[in-house]
Amino acid sequence: AKHNGRNDYSFFEPAMNVDARAQLKLLHELRLGIEREELVLHFQPKFCASTGAPMGAEALVRWQHPELGLLAPDRFIGLAEQAGLITRIDEWVLNAAARQLQAWRAAGHTTWQVAVNISGLHVRHHGLVGHVRDVLARYDLPAQNLAIEITETMAVRDAEAIAMLEELAALGVCLSIDDFGSGYSSLSYIKRLPVRELKIDRSFISEVCAGGIDAAIVASVVTLGRALNLRVVAEGIEDAEQQALLSELGCDVLQGFWLGRPVPASQFLASGQPAVEA
Ligand code: C2E
Ligand code: CA
Ligand code: CA
Ligand code: CA
Repeated sequence: AKHNGRNDYSFFEPAMNVDARAQLKLLHELRLGIEREELVLHFQPKFCASTGAPMGAEALVRWQHPELGLLAPDRFIGLAEQAGLITRIDEWVLNAAARQLQAWRAAGHTTWQVAVNISGLHVRHHGLVGHVRDVLARYDLPAQNLAIEITETMAVRDAEAIAMLEELAALGVCLSIDDFGSGYSSLSYIKRLPVRELKIDRSFISEVCAGGIDAAIVASVVTLGRALNLRVVAEGIEDAEQQALLSELGCDVLQGFWLGRPVPASQFLASGQPAVEA
């Protein structure tokens, strides 16, 4: 029989296409990468809309892959969720973000808040509350200086997940609903959850100046936020015009490339403050 390398390969692994094999390889490398400390955090500043003062940062994870370079979370978070690795990533992020917050506090930024993103799958995980409590104690942080951003997904709508969020809120941590208005949004949901902040989905921000209904949607989220005593954050601000309109519409906190891109802590400069690294 004639040999053809390619065909032999597909004969032995008939169900696995090139893409699936690449994902498996990436998953294997991710497991190793977590152990080898290849994950890194970038911090994007958040500003008070009325005073322009920096209020802290959102921590965003990246993976410094040995061959592929710096990978964005979209390349590996979904994979980590499928493979059950997401809790380990989120725990690493929580610890690294808390350590950085401690360094900023020691440098005098005692009102700053650092936000981390926690996967909806992780919110159902029993270890989460204990881990948050440990991290706050380890770095001697007031709970209100830590924010946890969760996206509305089916995973955080059941009674078990809500009980977990209530425990987190009881610790004093600031809970924030990310991408508010997209996907599974429902108003009954925010009534049931112990939330302190709404982050308007970027899809409503990108065309907020275009004169369509997006400005009306932002205005109604602001009204809702005021009625429920929640802080309203506009993220994804990309120009001065959006910044002006969103503060005029009454958003409390502003975030976006126009105001500051996500950067390593060593490059994190807010209103001329020198960098402080953990
Ligand atoms: P997200 O939580 O909605 O984060 C905001 C994303 O928008 C970030 O992308 C940020 O870099 C980007 N962004 C910020 N300002 C602007 C802007 O003005 N214009 C545009 N076009 N984009 C802007 P990034 O860092 O690639 O993160 C993507 C998503 O990955 C995040 O969306 C979040 O859902 C997830 N993610 C990031 N870090 C973590 C993490 O530590 N744990 C978990 N579970 N998920 C994470
Ligand atoms: Ca977020
Ligand atoms: Ca978001
Ligand atoms: Ca998102």
